Amino acid sequence: MEKGLISVDRWAKGSEAYFLSHLHSDHTNGLTSSWSHAPLFCSPVTAKLLPFKFYGFDLSLLRILHPDASHTLTLKSTVIHVTAIDACHCPGSIMLLFRGDFGCVLYTGDFRWEATCQRATNARHLLRNALHDVPVVDVVYLDNTYSNPIYDFPTRHVAAQKVIDIISSHPDHEVIIGINTLGKEDLLIEIARALQIKIWVWPERLRTMHLLGFYDIFTTDTSLTRVRAVPQYSFSIGTLESLNRMCPTIGILPSGLPWIKKSLQKNEFLSGSFLTRRYKRGKWSANSEAQSDDQIRNIGSPEKIHEYMYTVPYSDHSNYEEIEEFLKLVQPTRLKGIVASSSCYIEPMYYFGRLCRVDQQTQKLHEEQRRKESCKREIEAVRSKTSFGGDNVQTGRDRSKASKGRSSGVRLRRFSRLRRTHRGAKIQGDNCSDQE
Ligand SMILES: [Zn+2]
Repeated sequence: MEKGLISVDRWAKGSEAYFLSHLHSDHTNGLTSSWSHAPLFCSPVTAKLLPFKFYGFDLSLLRILHPDASHTLTLKSTVIHVTAIDACHCPGSIMLLFRGDFGCVLYTGDFRWEATCQRATNARHLLRNALHDVPVVDVVYLDNTYSNPIYDFPTRHVAAQKVIDIISSHPDHEVIIGINTLGKEDLLIEIARALQIKIWVWPERLRTMHLLGFYDIFTTDTSLTRVRAVPQYSFSIGTLESLNRMCPTIGILPSGLPWIKKSLQKNEFLSGSFLTRRYKRGKWSANSEAQSDDQIRNIGSPEKIHEYMYTVPYSDHSNYEEIEEFLKLVQPTRLKGIVASSSCYIEPMYYFGRLCRVDQQTQKLHEEQRRKESCKREIEAVRSKTSFGGDNVQTGRDRSKASKGRSSGVRLRRFSRLRRTHRGAKIQGDNCSDQE
């Protein structure tokens, strides 16, 4: 089989077919309006939205994968079977199960599979059926965003109630909620229905809402509502302080990433996390025994991180427990994280290698990882006497230093709006490696 048979969320030339799991920009990085390499497979909702993100895209190259069916694709060199499964992440998001000469590969894309979510239950049922005829899943390309046991945030419904509580307890305030260009629609709808209000969104977002079939809930008229959903990148403490000079305003950030109030700078844009060194050591270390009970408890609660700002752990990614349940179902031979450049890279084999079918390579990787982390912990223990003494706000230099650290399966990176700049997988003919 030729190398570079298919690519998922990767857009370099050289593959016979390309698959898009969903339209978030960290998965479309490299895709352009002038795309002409090969057919692009995606869900019906993604196909509907894509021309509005990539104006002038050649629609004749789009191929629809219905999420409830298995598709047989005849490529130049071979035939592959692909099943698209609802990823419950954002509108149009799918995970992809591939079968062919290369074996069986499951690419999760970003996904949130809550135990109590009916859509996720349906998706689990579909995946279970699809796996019936598969002897083994050779590789899972996993959404490893929160594949660390510290990520114990609640379901989106519970988190939405917390947002509603915050808004209700500020009856005289304007409310700003930071969102992205796609996703968290269900949160806004829950707020609108619970409080019997409309939600303001910016014009492009209103068009997206209409394309998704939400016609009555959203508006671009500020006089109709006190709750506005704004682009997260435009959200800063400075903006909130300016708004409060005109009228009382609070901001709410729904995100699975933890926040720490002490490190917020006045004009810092709120598109990443701002963690103190103590927080990094306590919460991000893979040595979970080192974390206090309070730290664990607080991670799932709303937090007032500034006089005008709240953060609520509303996440469109699976938490650790959900990933664990997912992998118990799939039982792959190998795992690969799809977050290749992140604020916090988490090697999924470290925590979930135990759920994989053991083969020699898996065993070797796991042992190697343990050995590395053991060495790293010893070095960290020595360094901590001089480097991790306090809970002060980090300087840029401190952050830079800390970002280079790696501790127990967690690679700490610079926290910035450029988080997750690259994702995807190129599936090749030999051993399904994604190494180009
Ligand atoms: Zn996403």
